[in-house]
Amino acid sequence: MTTGRGGKRRRRRRIDHKALYIRIGILVLAVLTVVLGIYSCVSGNRRNLNVDASEPDIDVQLLDVNPYSRPGIETEEINGIVIHYTANPGSTAQDNRDYFNGLQYSRETEASSNFVVGLDGEIIQCVPTWEVAYASNERNFDTVSIECCHPDDSGAFTDETYRSLVQLTAWLCLKFDLSEDDVIRHYDVTGKICPKYFVDHEDAWEEFRQNVRKAIDRTLEN
Ligand SMILES: [Zn+2]
Repeated sequence: MTTGRGGKRRRRRRIDHKALYIRIGILVLAVLTVVLGIYSCVSGNRRNLNVDASEPDIDVQLLDVNPYSRPGIETEEINGIVIHYTANPGSTAQDNRDYFNGLQYSRETEASSNFVVGLDGEIIQCVPTWEVAYASNERNFDTVSIECCHPDDSGAFTDETYRSLVQLTAWLCLKFDLSEDDVIRHYDVTGKICPKYFVDHEDAWEEFRQNVRKAIDRTLEN
């Protein structure tokens, strides 16, 4: 009798455990589904990014070699990509490229960048990647610089600018054997509030870097 009851009890207990495990399993799956759902809504999917690290369309309009915007000095080994914003709301990539080229005549300052990404996602190259551009202060000699246009004072980029920026940055990372950790802001070099939106919103900056990572992975997997 005792053995029999004990056996029964053991069996019952075993069944209870099974039910408990199933319940825990269902609960864990439900929680995971909700968490992943929320995560994909607030992160990458927000902009419907389907960007890889292939070479984007680049409109090459090199500046004239001149001391104010294209000194013609060779870069050292490239160790990073530096992101900027133009701080000139509404200006186009062409406006900024022409401004840089015009500095040889106006002589008002020294400024340029290797690339400018426009409001419609267009990309203009102003300085070859193997030459110094005047954008990132003491990092001009070992980085490639990208200026981004923006429609208003918040410094936020349009979806088109953002997409092109992710692809261009990811492509440059592959080209120079860099990772998303080597992508920095002008702010990280000098403390300047540039690019403003990515300085004001640290989460958006991290999201941008993760999107660069995803774009690189998408290309490496293929
Ligand atoms: Zn800057």
